[in-house]
Amino acid sequence: MAAITQHLRHLFLLVTKDTLCHFLRSLDTARSFWQDGPVFPGLLSFESSTMQSITPQQIRSSFVNASRSEAAKLTLPKDFDSLDWDSLDFLGWRDEKMPLRGYLVVPDPKGLTGILLRAPEGGARKNRSVLCELCRDVFSKEDVLLWVARRAGPSGRNGNTVGTLICADFLCCGNVRKEPPANEINPDPVAVVLRQLDGLKERTAQFVSRVQAK
Ligand SMILES: [Zn+2]
Repeated sequence: MAAITQHLRHLFLLVTKDTLCHFLRSLDTARSFWQDGPVFPGLLSFESSTMQSITPQQIRSSFVNASRSEAAKLTLPKDFDSLDWDSLDFLGWRDEKMPLRGYLVVPDPKGLTGILLRAPEGGARKNRSVLCELCRDVFSKEDVLLWVARRAGPSGRNGNTVGTLICADFLCCGNVRKEPPANEINPDPVAVVLRQLDGLKERTAQFVSRVQAK
């Protein structure tokens, strides 16, 4: 009972959509207090703002700028079976067997869009002087690479490409979820995280549409 009372007290403190989702998830895990089903099943659909679990087959058939054989040969992320989908806005990873290859699989209301990327031969420059164009994380020490994507369709087959700077290991979704230290300009770290999440989704969608632009 004490746990339920604490949950209810939290409810009044939670004002934003994402924190409400988090609360509902925790309440759902405590559903044995109440009944067998989810406590508020309808409200849990809020969570669709992150990724749903997807299958290897869905990944392989999502690519807009890769041949069927390129998609067939890709190596899935090592931790694929244990991914925390709730904390992903997209799935991004490097191919461990072909290190110059990377992949982005981005969900939107119409489905998944997969993009095959190529890293520069020489790797990253020594000092991290550039920001990732997707997460724009200023604290990460991770390398940022200029990833290049062949354009989708005939344009790509004619050799046209689109390049953008992205974290070398695609840790962007984790980066934007880290609360920065509070300061005078941004006194509320939770609000900063929500803004970062929106920015990541928006810029990722822009990149996807640049690759698909006719
Ligand atoms: Zn990033």
